Amino acid sequence: MSKPVCYSTRAFSAASASSPLSAASIERRTPTASDVQIQIRYCGVCHSDLHFARNEWGFTQYPCVPGHEIVGRVTAVGAGVTKFKVGDTAGVGCLVDSCRTCPNCRAGLEQFCDNGMVMTYGSTDKHLGTPTLGGYSQSIVVTEDFVLRMPANLDLASAAPLLCAGITTYSPMRHWKVGPGQKVGIVGLGGLGHMGVKFARAFGARVVLFTTSPGKAADAKRLGAHEVVVSTDEAQMQAQSGSFDFILDAVAAVHDINAYVNLLKRDGNLVLVGAPGKPLAVAAFPLIFRRRSFSGSLIGGLPETQEMLDFCGKHNITCDIELIRMDQINDAYERMLKSDVKYRFVIDMATLA
Ligand code: NAP
Ligand code: ZN
Ligand code: ZN
Repeated sequence: MSKPVCYSTRAFSAASASSPLSAASIERRTPTASDVQIQIRYCGVCHSDLHFARNEWGFTQYPCVPGHEIVGRVTAVGAGVTKFKVGDTAGVGCLVDSCRTCPNCRAGLEQFCDNGMVMTYGSTDKHLGTPTLGGYSQSIVVTEDFVLRMPANLDLASAAPLLCAGITTYSPMRHWKVGPGQKVGIVGLGGLGHMGVKFARAFGARVVLFTTSPGKAADAKRLGAHEVVVSTDEAQMQAQSGSFDFILDAVAAVHDINAYVNLLKRDGNLVLVGAPGKPLAVAAFPLIFRRRSFSGSLIGGLPETQEMLDFCGKHNITCDIELIRMDQINDAYERMLKSDVKYRFVIDMATLA
């Protein structure tokens, strides 16, 4: 395959694990026959962006461009593109390609592709052979099968984080059938956690939010939690013992997971979506004593991501965001590390000159 021609676009990139993000020019492929080119209007800031920019998972190649909650306007389409036309609003999440032929891809679970999914950043671009570069950028080119339709009734900036924070919390709750009559815990009121609260409530469960930040209690209730537990308060935790059907843990740092296993009923399930760079210690006894499960979940496939977006359109669900300028990104990372986000930063990409 001959290499496609490239064009330059502006981006914010990190040159090393310890350097701040700063403006740069990057190369993208010009759209091939199946590609959609998107002028990015907004990009959400996921804690994964921070883990990745600082090489906390150990596989970052530099310079890197984070960002996988991308929304914007279609500016060009390849000759074979049928689902999008110039002027459409479009979204791109954490995936930009996969093998499309393995059993997982055929089941619409591209995030578990046996032959290596292509992530929006940190994978290898199939066409260029170079690392994929994310959405802290003015434009992106993505094959049409990995481009999502955004519901027209939702505010675009507030809908951007649905593309990661939304699907990552929606998917496990659908998979494990969260619904009425169940007691559901959400751990951590950050970008993922606040969407977990909204979805669990929308699915009809009784929702309890666990937080290390007592100051977030009123917001948690406004977002849909029936109850708020301050997880550093031993007595409050004890009072919840053995009572949960399902707990979604969206914490970005190492923490005591056993404290939450203990809160599950018999056969209850604790699903980890948080991805700290260091292992969590899981004790045997809390698990084996009530046949409890400890599991994990990774974003969601393309069909389910579209289903989630459509669900949000229908039920008017968006993220609570703080819109920032591109040059505020390094401060935003520092605030994210202090759990000081309400509840997702979104970059206004018009501020990237
Ligand atoms: P975030 O906005 O920074 O939220 C994380 C929240 O966790 C914080 O707001 C805080 O909530 C709580 N927290 C932070 N440090 C803590 C600590 N030391 N002990 C206990 N609680 C703590 O992050 P995010 O963007 O939601 O992402 C959360 C994690 O999910 C990250 O590790 C990210 O990489 C991962 N992730 C995974 C997937 C997936 O597919 N599985 C997808 C996206 C992101 P309180 O103030 O309420 O305690
Ligand atoms: Zn993410
Ligand atoms: Zn595959």
